[in-house]
Amino acid sequence: MPDRVTDLRDAAAPTPTALHSADLVKAVLRTVRRTPRGRMGQALRAVLRTFGPVVPMGDGDAKTDAPGTYRPVGPACPTTCPLLPVHATGTGLVDWGYVDALAALLKEYTKQTRRAPDAGPLAWTYTHEEDPATVEELRRRLPWVSIRHSDHDGHGGAIVLPFERVKGLRDAGLSPLKCPAQRKDEHGAPLATCITCRACWEKPQRLIVFDPHGGWEAKLRQALETGSSMAATCYAAGGNVALHERRATVSAWAAARTALGAIAWAEATGRLARLHVSGDFHGGQVS
Ligand code: SF4
Repeated sequence: MPDRVTDLRDAAAPTPTALHSADLVKAVLRTVRRTPRGRMGQALRAVLRTFGPVVPMGDGDAKTDAPGTYRPVGPACPTTCPLLPVHATGTGLVDWGYVDALAALLKEYTKQTRRAPDAGPLAWTYTHEEDPATVEELRRRLPWVSIRHSDHDGHGGAIVLPFERVKGLRDAGLSPLKCPAQRKDEHGAPLATCITCRACWEKPQRLIVFDPHGGWEAKLRQALETGSSMAATCYAAGGNVALHERRATVSAWAAARTALGAIAWAEATGRLARLHVSGDFHGGQVS
């Protein structure tokens, strides 16, 4: 059985032409119109693969309830992340190839679906890019994607901070929102999914706060308390996301193609696609 990563890298397709993009969007739209929701992922992956390699795509989880994609993280995390582990090389390079490929596909998608300019975003995502001017450039190139600025405590920002510290943010004059998907009602159920909450893309004035969670919670808390990035490792370096990284380090067009599939899938099922965290960075090994 071929190694999946090598297989996908070797199969990376050349930059698609405008005609290729138009055909791809038509095929994707035809698929979402004809396919029952339960078989959508399988049908879309099959169609996307006829145009070139794809990266992992799924129907979301209990938190997001939104189709989404996975992009390189781990060794492709930005050097600016305070939680970057010492053994992870990281990069500060934005993968503009991916950004522009996605922009081109979304331009064609919005043309074919006659989407009104004020119809709202087609997807949401986060960036760890440090420079606000670069974040603005990302937003300019991807007008159909709502981009949260991670590790930024201003407008449109999102940070990781233990919930018990949120009061301090309010005292500092900020307007934090504890992610409702991480909060529980009296029966222990999450207060919301991303699709019922929508704050990440509809409330840029609120600072989204994520409580450290999962297997790396203790280490994340330690890093925040000591201020040392060396004391901790981020979940991307060894957790679930790292597995996705090893599978998803492929060409920019493979990622953009799959993002288009997730977006069409989400729209067809009345949701918003969630493109993966760190999706606009690369570690130098992707084309
Ligand atoms: S704040 Fe709302 S939209 Fe953002 S991640 Fe949490 S549940 Fe999802």
